[in-house]
Amino acid sequence: MDDELPVAQVHLQRGQIYRSCASASGSPRYVRILERDRGTDRYRIADAVTGRRPRDIDGRRLHPYEDGRGGALRRTGYVLVDPHEFVNELIERALFGGRHRHPFVIAGSAFSRDVYRGGFLRVWPDADADTEAEAALNAVRAVVSALETASFDVEPAPGIEDEIRVRFGGKLTCPAMHSSGRGRWYCDRERGHEDDHQDDRLLEDWPNTRAPVAPPWWLPAPTAPGRAPSRTSSKTRDGVTAQAIGLPS
Ligand SMILES: [Zn+2]
Repeated sequence: MDDELPVAQVHLQRGQIYRSCASASGSPRYVRILERDRGTDRYRIADAVTGRRPRDIDGRRLHPYEDGRGGALRRTGYVLVDPHEFVNELIERALFGGRHRHPFVIAGSAFSRDVYRGGFLRVWPDADADTEAEAALNAVRAVVSALETASFDVEPAPGIEDEIRVRFGGKLTCPAMHSSGRGRWYCDRERGHEDDHQDDRLLEDWPNTRAPVAPPWWLPAPTAPGRAPSRTSSKTRDGVTAQAIGLPS
């Protein structure tokens, strides 16, 4: 699933993700461009998965395509990747590499080529009603944690159930999304604005109902006092009360 039209990526932009071309065994290594060193061809990069190890690299080692001279695959440097590939890799590592295995908890995702516009994850719609709700919650939290470690801002999107918005640099702008017959709209206005939501790229707007949906059950943070839905708790299969972990019962 991909709601975005294919758009040619402009190479060497801040925030872009690159994968190492070195044919090492194991998981691929990803880096992210932090900034360009003004007036030079050098770029500040860091490990994309952890956000750590900031260092400088010659821009000539960052390639737009995987094919090198004569069409052979490159074996050195880094190649630009679709951010959706990177997000999917993080999800896979979180769900299958860690303790919180739950292979179906992310039912789908879409992601723009622009990491600042970002995209969304669709949580398995029956997760909150399922007998394994606690496992599903832990799995979603593992995914959110992996995304946040990789510098993404992650939050529920007001107005859309079962979806989580994921992007870079989202602290200042509205998280609202709108699913329309003509595609996906992302609000570009400032956080907390009161007038209609608007997607500045598509020049589309939609009503700001100002009646946020109750915090979705998968909110990543540990349940804060007063945040859990005040409904009658019930026992899950593991004997943990649903209310205690903030699940609707
Ligand atoms: Zn908005």
